[in-house]
Amino acid sequence: MTWTQRSHDLLAELGGFLLGASCAGCDLPGVLLCAGCRSSLVPALVDGRTPSGLDVRAALSFEGVAARCIRRLKGDGETLLARPLGDALAAVLVPAIDAARGAGEVLVVPVPTTRSAFRRRGYRVPDLLIRRAGARTAQLLRIVRSREDQRGLGVVERAQNVHGAMRARRSGAGERVVLVDDVVTTGATLDEATRALSAAGYRVISAVALAATPSRRGLTGHSSSTHRRHGGNDP
Ligand SMILES: [Zn+2]
Repeated sequence: MTWTQRSHDLLAELGGFLLGASCAGCDLPGVLLCAGCRSSLVPALVDGRTPSGLDVRAALSFEGVAARCIRRLKGDGETLLARPLGDALAAVLVPAIDAARGAGEVLVVPVPTTRSAFRRRGYRVPDLLIRRAGARTAQLLRIVRSREDQRGLGVVERAQNVHGAMRARRSGAGERVVLVDDVVTTGATLDEATRALSAAGYRVISAVALAATPSRRGLTGHSSSTHRRHGGNDP
């Protein structure tokens, strides 16, 4: 082992000790995200459709390293992960904005989070990811009715649970919208967001998500093959 390697290892170890850091994907100490896990965040696009027929494209499948990184961001406040995850989101968000662009500008609208989640985290996950993906957010939606936890619910129950939960903050005049969520399961939340925005005069063109759950209860896939391509900054 050369001195350079040794000092590098020592620095990594010290850094890990000082920061208490470990890889979000595999718990390797001393790094936020190791090279191997970083390569697992290269987008592998998942296409699907919500129960109401809105096209959704997700950058990643919500499993393995990607799922662990997203949980670390959402649950443990590891906001530095928003950078690599935002890079992954950019791979689906940027083309969606381009495709939705008509005569005017495209509004990028995050799915709203509850006030209690915002208080707990101090940030809104979809908004943070959009900013890290290099786009501007239009916070057009708010939650007007609390809902039950969606976990464990099927497609129909999720749709019923979320119906009427959102409202637009102001009315629109046909502006085009791309919706963004962090993790999409059945798409019921995206359908409710679309309902609220359409009722206020906006036109939702498509939706993108950072990740889609691979569950069989989930989105209706219309292109079962996921195509892998490079995105973000890393090989
Ligand atoms: Zn790792």
